[in-house]
Amino acid sequence: MQFTEQDLETILHALNFAAEKHQDQRRKNRTTPPYINHPIHVVNILWDIGGVRHIPTLVAAALHDTLEDTDTTTEVLAAHFGVEVLALVQEVTDDKSLPKATRKQLQIEHAPYLSFEAKHIKLADKIDNVRDVGHNPPVNWTYQRLIAYLDWSEAVVAGLRGTNEKLEVYYDEVLREARQLLAH
Ligand code: ZN
Repeated sequence: MQFTEQDLETILHALNFAAEKHQDQRRKNRTTPPYINHPIHVVNILWDIGGVRHIPTLVAAALHDTLEDTDTTTEVLAAHFGVEVLALVQEVTDDKSLPKATRKQLQIEHAPYLSFEAKHIKLADKIDNVRDVGHNPPVNWTYQRLIAYLDWSEAVVAGLRGTNEKLEVYYDEVLREARQLLAH
């Protein structure tokens, strides 16, 4: 596969855009890493584990939490990165006007109907979040809440299967490891 200078530039712009948008946010994990670590991990998981070379998927992965968790508008995303990337980010964005329990239920119900590309992003997103639950869990979460998160994530991923075997196998490993770490 050949990549152009334009492809590299677009990925760098997306990472830079996400870094600026998430600059004042930190993850809620014990060590409170900068938020941007998470989208970078998701892009890296897609590239390294999933073998994903589809540029709009990698660009959307870098931007996947900007609509949900920052002041980024759909218009700005479309203007900078085009409508294909915008559509992918929208597919993996929860409707924040809904109660949290409803949003979580909808993720399970919608997973099988996501596009092939959005399923990839969702898989990598869940991999990184589950890895955190095992290795660097959010502060103040009870054991029950951590287990409930893993169970929910597993239910979402059940609807994403048949998309990318390497990502799915890796998710299973990361999930098993998280359950083992929590059991101790
Ligand atoms: Zn995410």
